[in-house]
Amino acid sequence: MTFELTAEQAAIRAVARDFAEAELGDKIAPYDARHEFPHEIVAKLGPLGFLGVLVPEEYGGAGLDYVSYALIVEELNRGDASVGITMWAHNSLGANHISLFGSTEQKRRWLPRLAAGEMLAAWGLTEPGSGSDAAALLTRAEARADGWALNGSKAFITNASVGGVAVVMARTDPDKKSKGISAFVVPKGTPGFRAGTPYRKLGLHASDTAELIFEDARVEAGALIGERGQGFVQAVDQSVKYMKQRTAFGRTLAEFNGLQGMLAEVATDVEVARLLTLRAAWLKDAGQPAMHAAAKAKVFASEAAMKAATRAVQIHGGAGYITEFPVERIFRDAKLTEIGEGTSEIQRMVIAREILQLT
Ligand SMILES: Cc1cc2nc3c(=O)[nH]c(=O)nc-3n(C[C@H](O)[C@H](O)[C@H](O)COP(=O)(O)OP(=O)(O)OC[C@H]3O[C@@H](n4cnc5c(N)ncnc54)[C@H](O)[C@@H]3O)c2cc1C
Repeated sequence: MTFELTAEQAAIRAVARDFAEAELGDKIAPYDARHEFPHEIVAKLGPLGFLGVLVPEEYGGAGLDYVSYALIVEELNRGDASVGITMWAHNSLGANHISLFGSTEQKRRWLPRLAAGEMLAAWGLTEPGSGSDAAALLTRAEARADGWALNGSKAFITNASVGGVAVVMARTDPDKKSKGISAFVVPKGTPGFRAGTPYRKLGLHASDTAELIFEDARVEAGALIGERGQGFVQAVDQSVKYMKQRTAFGRTLAEFNGLQGMLAEVATDVEVARLLTLRAAWLKDAGQPAMHAAAKAKVFASEAAMKAATRAVQIHGGAGYITEFPVERIFRDAKLTEIGEGTSEIQRMVIAREILQLT
């Protein structure tokens, strides 16, 4: 067994870390304060290959493995979680859906542009009336002579208003639950299709989250992805810095046992989260079943992120509660990890079903 990264994976992580340290963190804070999407900074991700990480090289992507991808996601989120979610929703959800299930024509049409960062992708599954129970979605896609007509809406969609294209799940067969859902690729500018006004959120203020609205939106027959009915499938650094700077009772915070214990616990959680995540990525790269390993990594890493952020605010005292220090933003941003992409409760359900052998 080896826990070493390959030279290429280590080099990729270094590029991501250097970018995050130079371009994210404090530079994103003003965007976060203004609830503004950082177009100029996101535009720098494409040339680095970070918007086509998993896209095969033949379609203009970096064609990297899942371990490399997990490393890039970790480093960018360490820099800033708004840019992080923008990047991973585009890669994991939008581009990857087309890459895995799209026709050659759809891949040729969309992947090079997505990988180059000419446009961002959104991915719409959640609706106002269905989130965890995603198979209960109501958006309808009805066959027409020249394609499909989509009606309904999607809620809480990342990159919805800044995206150039959306992968959208819609019901094509009302009588079948999950097997009656199909995926469509819907470009911005499609008549009858628009994004709503971006939500004001607890955190991730520099990311774009909005509704996708379909009012008899007409898409061509070639917009169906795959077959009909198959559409359904970090805050330690800041604490260390502050503990070494701040003094109380003539000592630095770093000398207090209670705070040392908090830091040790967070550092251990981060290490476990990283190991679980990289193991899931390794299983995926090895072509082995990765769903349960990914569910365990997701629930542990999300809750470790929230715990680390809570501890970081506590270590900062009053300074942790005001916007001058980054931990306040990190605290708000961390909460989403326990909700998006399958809540912690849903991840636990997936894990328990495996243990109880319920499918
Ligand atoms: C900032 C942000 C970005 C997002 N980006 C996207 C995106 O790009 N694309 C997209 O499609 N969606 C996106 N989402 C939606 C996200 O995936 C959903 O919010 C999430 O799946 C939870 O669904 P819900 O909000 O409907 O909550 P609900 O499903 O209504 O859940 C409410 C509560 O009930 C619990 N619960 C539900 N079912 C069960 C169960 N069976 N057992 C135990 N507890 C249960 C949940 O864990 C939660 O605590 C985003 C959300 C946010 C906030």
